[in-house]
Amino acid sequence: MKELEECLELLLAEIHPKNQTEYVALADACDRILSEDICAEMMIPPYPKSAMDGYAVRAEDTPGADREHPVILQVVGELFAGDYVQLPCRKGCAVRVMTGSYVPEGYDAVIRQEDTDYGEDTVQIYRSITTGTNYCCVGEDIREGQQILAKGSHLTALHIGLLASLGIHRVPVCEKIKCSILSTGSELVAPGAPLLPGKIYNSIAYMLRASMERWGIQVPFTEICKDDKEILKKQLQKALDRADIVITTGGVSVGKKDLLPEVLEELGAKKLFSRANIQPGTPTIGSVLEGKVILSLSGNPYAAYANFEYYFWELAAYFTQDASLKVRREHAVLSDPYPKVNRLRRFVRAYAENGRVALPTAVHASSVLSNVRDCNCFIDIEPGRELHPGDKVRIRYFK
Ligand code: AMP
Ligand code: MG
Repeated sequence: MKELEECLELLLAEIHPKNQTEYVALADACDRILSEDICAEMMIPPYPKSAMDGYAVRAEDTPGADREHPVILQVVGELFAGDYVQLPCRKGCAVRVMTGSYVPEGYDAVIRQEDTDYGEDTVQIYRSITTGTNYCCVGEDIREGQQILAKGSHLTALHIGLLASLGIHRVPVCEKIKCSILSTGSELVAPGAPLLPGKIYNSIAYMLRASMERWGIQVPFTEICKDDKEILKKQLQKALDRADIVITTGGVSVGKKDLLPEVLEELGAKKLFSRANIQPGTPTIGSVLEGKVILSLSGNPYAAYANFEYYFWELAAYFTQDASLKVRREHAVLSDPYPKVNRLRRFVRAYAENGRVALPTAVHASSVLSNVRDCNCFIDIEPGRELHPGDKVRIRYFK
């Protein structure tokens, strides 16, 4: 029986970071991981720009101006945001401009309209200003060639705005990783279909899929498969063809219809581990086929979830080199009694908040999912450990 950490290392050793680039439309790039550095190919602002509604002037024409002794300038034209017209610039001239307007060559400052008489043909200037006042130079925000975002950035809405300001409309991002889910069990039916006697609804596939898609993992294949060796082989092959990693559920134990171990062997998969020091989910199997990792989980929903959480996010974080995909781990102080002493390491469902962790439920069976809704983490309990309220324990938050 192997330790979980060893099993995880064996799986990680079989995969490589997935760093193929795909280009997506800017509008679809939020929450993706940038696969290349982005450098500006233009200046921002791209033209000299007014920061105020007022008059573009030559600062040198304004010394000494105040309300008692205004400087009078000749208004040679009017420019609104979006206009681009060359206007003459001589001593004693001004141009009426609005916020965002182009400031024609030769003018080096903008006096705000409140400091003038709002004149049309001539304007009285009530204040002296210095070069550069209310005037945005070309490239003062971003210079052409400057690196704007680094490869590996997790793109946020603000990053999207930045890319848009540079006119970038196709963004190089890392391809998403793809994970197939094959739910094995002749009793399984998809929600929405009628439930005949002896059947149950497939809950795990929906739970895992929702969790993965929320974190940007694609799930191109979710199928239910009967407990039939030949069908299982075909379905497993399809699942492999469609994804970077395959998760199967059910059929890993020792029942007559637990066919996964045989099927994996007959397909030529390399077995990495088949029993781990963990409860629930001791019989989880890790294997590799065609260079792809197959994680075969128990069909008991809580066991499947606990083991999925342990392995999958580490694999996903390694594939994408995005550490934010890892689960959050902490220590917390146990509030409630937990009377059992387990021979194996155990993941117990619990609720953690503000450094304390409570056990909202007395039912810990691996088949029971209903009480997980009151929980937000696992307590990771060492084998043989006796626990008392007040003890410090390791916790792993649900992703
Ligand atoms: P198995 O791992 O195939 O022995 O299944 C263990 C238990 O989990 C059985 O009671 C199954 O009916 C149940 N089970 C298997 N797969 C699923 C699933 N996808 N969703 C919900 N329950 C399942
Ligand atoms: Mg089964």
